[in-house]
Amino acid sequence: MISIHNFNFNSKKALVRVDFNVPLDKETLQITDDKRIRAALPTINKILSDNGSAIIMSHLGRPKNGPEDKFSLKHIKSRVEQLTGAEVHFSKDCVGVDAEALSEKLLPGEILLLENVRFHGEETQGDEAFAKQLSKLGDCYVNDAFGTAHRAHASTCQIAQFFPNAKMCGFLMEKEIQSAKAVMEDTKRPFTAIVGGAKVSDKVLIVENLIDKADHIIIGGGMAYTFKKALGGNIGNSLCEDDRLDTCLEILKRAKQKGVSIHLPEDSIIADDFNNNAQSKTTESNQIEVGWMGLDIGSNASKEFSDVISKSKTILWNGPMGVFEMTSFQGGTKSIANAVASATKNGAYSLIGGGDSAAAAKKFGVDQIVSHVSTGGGALLEYFEGKTLPGIEAIRA
Ligand code: AMP
Repeated sequence: MISIHNFNFNSKKALVRVDFNVPLDKETLQITDDKRIRAALPTINKILSDNGSAIIMSHLGRPKNGPEDKFSLKHIKSRVEQLTGAEVHFSKDCVGVDAEALSEKLLPGEILLLENVRFHGEETQGDEAFAKQLSKLGDCYVNDAFGTAHRAHASTCQIAQFFPNAKMCGFLMEKEIQSAKAVMEDTKRPFTAIVGGAKVSDKVLIVENLIDKADHIIIGGGMAYTFKKALGGNIGNSLCEDDRLDTCLEILKRAKQKGVSIHLPEDSIIADDFNNNAQSKTTESNQIEVGWMGLDIGSNASKEFSDVISKSKTILWNGPMGVFEMTSFQGGTKSIANAVASATKNGAYSLIGGGDSAAAAKKFGVDQIVSHVSTGGGALLEYFEGKTLPGIEAIRA
């Protein structure tokens, strides 16, 4: 596999697939958070400082039937200009004669930003002819879009075949792969996985796969109550997926067979409404009365979980421990964030992934302390579910 570190982009036109799917203000269409653009800067800057030019491909939002102004990448052109300091040209279509002419004229040190690749339905269909058209614009291919690595789309996957000797991962993608490997392949033990969030059904595959790898699995958040009910507990009005009770028992059984410790929250902060100002109190997680719901882990659970985390050498965290968006129910997630940060300071490798856990890490000020906060939600989940990611495979092939 070619490494971007050794590749010289001098006089080359590099087609770079990035994930510039940034949030835009609905009214003004101004960028509200540019971290995804910033995350791709090391790759873009390397290309430009080598005296090459960058042709940037990305999607933005989920356009259904062709072009839609609110999903146009033209809204982000000036921010790319500002952040790179380079001249940025914009192509109103990502393929076709105009795009080809703009690419032809592009000078070293300049950027050509292509319009949203998803304005063509062929992108998400992984259409080969469309990928070939895109490939005509550059003479090497860099994939730096980990967030879409689990999609076999034209610009993330099929396009790579047209650059058999000039395809590579960008710096961000490389960092994501290294972090995921540090957890799953070069695992230092004990390895603790912390899984939370709303639904068991979203996390079943990852938990099942982790049973083969982890020493401890901590389960918190709304999903913990389905486990509690499966074990015969009373969970009142807490979140529950009744069709997953057997799955929970199966997971607990397999974990026991494999010698993996599963930690469920002993106590919970419960509320009489899904509301920050609701009445609340602490109780055992399996003795929640009807009319009450568990919205956060309790202090005993926080203590037990933090204790396990403090003794771990590898930590993976996906999903909050409670409704951390509400101040009354953020304490559990905050204490876990702090425990992961302390363990990292003591030498553990920690990877936080998934939109909500990344937001929680930022909210509680540990995003700069942990080893890595992944930019990939779905892609990271699929990696830890044991699936291969087409975007990465295409570079390797
Ligand atoms: P997920 O996207 O599955 O990772 O779930 C994240 C969401 O789960 C967050 O918005 C949390 O507010 C929510 N959540 C976490 N714990 C609970 C809970 N005990 N009850 C209801 N929602 C929860």
